[in-house]
Amino acid sequence: MNDSKPKADTRSARDQIDGLDQQLVTLLAQRMQAVAAVGAAKSRDPNRPVFDPDREHQVAARWRAQAQEHGLSEYFVGRVLHEVLAHSHRGQEQQRRASGGREEALVGYQGVAGAFSDAAIDKLFATRGVTTIKRGYATFVEVVDALLQSAVDHALLPIENSTCGSVAEVSQLLTTRGIAIVDEEYLAVEHCIAVVPGATLDQVRELRSHPVALLQCQQTVAGLHAVRAVPHFDTAAAASHVAELADEKVAAICSAAAARLSGLEIVRRDVADQADNQTRFVLLARAPEQRVPAQPVKTSLLFEVQNRQGALLECLQGFAAHGCNLTRLESRILPGKPWQYGFVADVQGGTGDAPFDAAIATVSGVTAHLRILGCYPDRAVARAALPVAHGSLPAVAIEPPRPAAANAALPRVSHSKSSGRSLVSVGSVAIGGDGFTLIAGPCAVEDAEQIADAARLVRKCGAQILRGGVFKPRSSPYSFQGLGAAGLELLADAGRSHGMPVVTEALRVEDLDLITAHADMIQIGARNMQNFALLKAVGQRDLPVLLKRGMSATIDELLGAAEYIMAEGNHRVVLCERGIRTFERATRATLDVSAVPVLKERTHLPVIVDPSHAAGRRELVVPLALAAVAAGADGLIVEAHPRPEEARCDKEQALTAALMAQLAAGASAIISSRGGTWPAVR
Ligand code: PEP
Ligand code: MN
Repeated sequence: MNDSKPKADTRSARDQIDGLDQQLVTLLAQRMQAVAAVGAAKSRDPNRPVFDPDREHQVAARWRAQAQEHGLSEYFVGRVLHEVLAHSHRGQEQQRRASGGREEALVGYQGVAGAFSDAAIDKLFATRGVTTIKRGYATFVEVVDALLQSAVDHALLPIENSTCGSVAEVSQLLTTRGIAIVDEEYLAVEHCIAVVPGATLDQVRELRSHPVALLQCQQTVAGLHAVRAVPHFDTAAAASHVAELADEKVAAICSAAAARLSGLEIVRRDVADQADNQTRFVLLARAPEQRVPAQPVKTSLLFEVQNRQGALLECLQGFAAHGCNLTRLESRILPGKPWQYGFVADVQGGTGDAPFDAAIATVSGVTAHLRILGCYPDRAVARAALPVAHGSLPAVAIEPPRPAAANAALPRVSHSKSSGRSLVSVGSVAIGGDGFTLIAGPCAVEDAEQIADAARLVRKCGAQILRGGVFKPRSSPYSFQGLGAAGLELLADAGRSHGMPVVTEALRVEDLDLITAHADMIQIGARNMQNFALLKAVGQRDLPVLLKRGMSATIDELLGAAEYIMAEGNHRVVLCERGIRTFERATRATLDVSAVPVLKERTHLPVIVDPSHAAGRRELVVPLALAAVAAGADGLIVEAHPRPEEARCDKEQALTAALMAQLAAGASAIISSRGGTWPAVR
């Protein structure tokens, strides 16, 4: 039986313990009150971090000294302090959040302040809108352990370098520990040779740096007279070590930031053997993060193939068959399974994207094991689409062209004193004004499945209006002419299912009743811009008109065509630049970007751009579209297809899901840089 009554020989000691425990708890409560007072002061200054490493080192040193004085284990006292401090941080972070201060993330990395990883954290978190507290660790394993033990919220590790290739240890950690990749960052790695102040390069006999940095600068080092390379655990630590040694014979290869932090002088910059030396970093967390809509993503996967002939080929074909691009493939050893291999693949796209999901379903069927290591923003795509340092676009207000004086020959089309810019409503969508409209879909409606898949694809990337031709003006009478009336119903159904009004082209006056019954907007194609009978007929309809510029038409002729429609009473006209015929043969047509600001000078009507028919090749569509957005277009109309290789019309220019996502990412960055918003994605 358990006797709760204290025995006489332990009674007094236990009484003492109870009293001390009481004091300990009271002291802890008092300590937390003092911590809260400091927290309140810190949260008044949003730039002051909660974590103050210098102060914590002082506290820890005092605890250690007192532990020694009392003959207590430093480990034991250290553990207690760790818990006390962790609780204090959480309390202060809570105060910071409650006071509306900025959010903070604790990020672990390998190395010390000034290391390239340190700079990569700054770069990556600048786009996340979160302030960081960075903690350097000696090894990659320690960083990952800190993450798993919740000592940090995130870990940033280098995964590959453009000169030296994969960082095998990090790759291995990613595949063997339960962590998720949640973001990536690319950093140009510029190595410098840094010496103690006053020293010169010819005095140097020893160059210290991280082994990978030494490898990246192998030829430079070999070219220096009687200089020996000495590995160090980190580039920035090598710099501070060189500063401590204060020996002019010893120099460091490090970043300019590390040289500055250590008070060294740079004697040579950019010493890597390859001019464009970049490192790709991955940001890790304990759990996956939610995907940001409309942002191009990449997924890292680990899969093991069955040990039989052609198994790897079947996996790769699974990705190719569904149009999923692999940006990286690497083989890894499998711990505990000698001479069996796993493969790490980076694939553009992510769960929820139809082609990606279909590829994973196919590949899972032929792999022994498949695990997703993380789905994260594809920063390489964002950089390619937008040739400016991403995340650092300044907010620029582009001065819109000044309206030209009213033109008596074009009374309805040109600006009048009273009219501002026109808004044209198409179903529930308004084109023009401050908004931006994306119209997208296939060149032609081909069948129910194709138009439904296309609608889903474009809707995901922000399209508000679905396009699809059913009466196709083809150069050859033997080419697919469109599904006609049957296609109209399929188009309207697909639009309804995905909440998008639809636009389709009219070739003949006789088809207008049918088109008006099913579509929300009539398109007059380039070939019919001066079909005056057709223009007059659509002018008598109560449906908005998308008027495309004829391929040999001047801007004045386009405005004349719009005047024809408006003169009949239909004022809902949207103008579209789609490329004109010039001597240039490299593109299908020459996109006249200047038409955008010129039209805006001359008319109040909304102006959109079709980069697809100008480009003729899908690779050119995104850059042309971004040029149009930058020039001030009110919207875009683009062709996209769920399976471009099967398209029956304008196959070469059809955007894939990945290119649609690139377009959305690039255009939304430009639009938000001038204070606008890209259409919301559903
Ligand atoms: C189209 O948009 O389907 C089309 C045929 O375009 P354009 O009239 O500009 O050639
Ligand atoms: Mn087309």
